[in-house]
Amino acid sequence: MSGVSKLLLASAMLLGLAACWGEADRNGNAWMRETAHYYPASDITPANVDELGTAWEFTDFVVRGSTHRGVQATPVVVDGVMYVSGPWSVVYALDAKTGKQIWQYDPDVDGQHARRTCCDVVNRGVAVDDGVVYVATLDGYLVGIDAKTGRENWKTDTITDRTRSYAITGAPRVAGGNVVIGNGGAEMGVRGYASAFDKKTGKLAWRFFIVPGDPEAGPDEHPEVTEARATWDAKSRWDLGGGGTAWDSIVYDPDTNTVYIGTGNGSPHPIWLRSPAGGDNLYLSSILALDADSGRKKWHYQTTPSDSWDYTATQNMILADIEFDGKPRKVIMQAPKNGFFYVIDRVSGELLSAEKYTTVTWADRVDLKTGRPVITAQSNFSDGPKLIWPSQAGGHNWPPMAYNAEEGLVYIPVLEAPMTFEMHDKQDYRPFSIIQGVGGSFPALADPNDPALVKLVQGQPEPKFEQVLKAWNPKTGKIEWTSKVMPFWSGGVMTTSSGLVVQGSSDGHLTFYDAKSGAVLHRINIGTGIMAAPMAYEVDGTQYIAVAAGFGGAFNSFFMEGWAAKTRENNARLLVFKLGGEKVRLAGPRPTRPLTAAPVKFRGNAAQVERGATLYVQNCARCHAGPEESGSYPNLWKMTPETHEAFNDIVLGGAFAYAGMASFSDVLSPTDARDIHAFLAKPLESKTPDNQKPAAERKSLH
Ligand code: CA
Repeated sequence: MSGVSKLLLASAMLLGLAACWGEADRNGNAWMRETAHYYPASDITPANVDELGTAWEFTDFVVRGSTHRGVQATPVVVDGVMYVSGPWSVVYALDAKTGKQIWQYDPDVDGQHARRTCCDVVNRGVAVDDGVVYVATLDGYLVGIDAKTGRENWKTDTITDRTRSYAITGAPRVAGGNVVIGNGGAEMGVRGYASAFDKKTGKLAWRFFIVPGDPEAGPDEHPEVTEARATWDAKSRWDLGGGGTAWDSIVYDPDTNTVYIGTGNGSPHPIWLRSPAGGDNLYLSSILALDADSGRKKWHYQTTPSDSWDYTATQNMILADIEFDGKPRKVIMQAPKNGFFYVIDRVSGELLSAEKYTTVTWADRVDLKTGRPVITAQSNFSDGPKLIWPSQAGGHNWPPMAYNAEEGLVYIPVLEAPMTFEMHDKQDYRPFSIIQGVGGSFPALADPNDPALVKLVQGQPEPKFEQVLKAWNPKTGKIEWTSKVMPFWSGGVMTTSSGLVVQGSSDGHLTFYDAKSGAVLHRINIGTGIMAAPMAYEVDGTQYIAVAAGFGGAFNSFFMEGWAAKTRENNARLLVFKLGGEKVRLAGPRPTRPLTAAPVKFRGNAAQVERGATLYVQNCARCHAGPEESGSYPNLWKMTPETHEAFNDIVLGGAFAYAGMASFSDVLSPTDARDIHAFLAKPLESKTPDNQKPAAERKSLH
């Protein structure tokens, strides 16, 4: 891998790897079943799963420009209608039997807002309740849509400060009379909070600030902020927001009228840069249990006190009633990024179990008496780089895990990889830019003979870069089975009452496992990378399995070997399967374009090229891949002559803002843009035909 590629990969990895899905709050215990991604699909069984074929496929997703974005939502089906969201927060209502579109709601998200997201313009789903579909948009609005007509009932601005990089990719959740939503942006200098709005009117019911604000800016908004403030240095970097964003998991328990919110990492990441005197820094990386009507806190559990590793606790949370140590317990379960699987009494907040579901080196164990992790010396990278497990991608990220009560097992999509953590101590606030205070890379992708890396790996578990599915017993804290290795970053999981576990993967397969044994029963190759969790439903006596496909999110700047998106087109698809369905369509080959010559007039000198390289990494590399790689976004070494001509109009003038290529005129000058262009044009010189070279150079060739 080239130096630029490594830099680009590192920058992609450092992002918040954002997140959730949404579902209807239905009658009976469906609400609990759905947090578990457990479906009563009883007709589709281990014995006949190989008879699944296509019932229908929907491909008419809104695409802006030429960039195909990630699809992360799990559909919701209510009364024969499927509601699903796609890139740019567009919602589609489809006939669940035929796939025919009934309506489409496009919130017309401001394309400039793509710059305010760490990880693509994805959306992880809608909520459906009492004839209303709720979606939260990338640019921070919450919308109530009439489920029948697709017309907007109301639209509310959820953002408290529009000068900061707040964005929403998560699904809202209906909780009693309110609908609750958080936001993302902890990698870019924001203060996290969650808000509840009256589900009929969209009027603000309550707002819970997850971390304290700058004390100079005004009094604490509610008592919990004051309580949290005691766990922060009074001289914290309030200008960098504090973080703690609730970007994915929100669940609701109607029995106790409690809404549970998973919160994210600090801003910047290392605590010694954020809150120099230390402290737990509540409520970063925590599970918050709030009263759904008032927003007042009932209890909290912080999974990673003093977080310095981007160990968000925003991963999906499952509500279940299980017998624990001989006593029936109402529990909430989570496998956050930090590598421990937590079982917590969801009424009292008592920690029942916390065991490692992957390799963990930042902590030895969790003390069940105090509820606190026992942190290792290896976790501290304040005095130099360290190799730490798990990576910033976490042991588990947003692709949902699933729980099958009959089997008593949780199925976790586990990422097994360490990362090198290296502090970057100069952190100035820069609008709409990544401000993490840390860099690093995956050793498994680096040169194994690099002496610096050899030193970091010494004495540590052998680095890996793998994805597996693990069946976890929450009562014993033990792994029952582990799947074969898949390419890194696979999809979410669902499980059925008939004993199936279903998961998609980045290599374009949908795999069906036996829930008890882990045996692979069937694989369907669709040729499109899958991140979203599948779901199941029934219409007129026929059972279906649906899954959205299309790779993207935190990894869409850079497609790796083994990923379907590397070699095949990556268009968004919604696939629905039934027994006896038709042959499944394989995605076509990825269109390729050769390196093209840059018009000569853009050539720069060596100093400009070097300066351009630095600016490129700071501003462009979050999205655009290196010269040899191909991600979702246009390869800038393959620009057409017209694009070269229009370079400044695009970079500074915002000519492609609608498609997500925002204007950078607030942080880049025309000289900066010229130097970035010089960096991009440099490798193309050898492609330039002689007759296009400057006269002086032509002469010297003859
Ligand atoms: Ca993060």
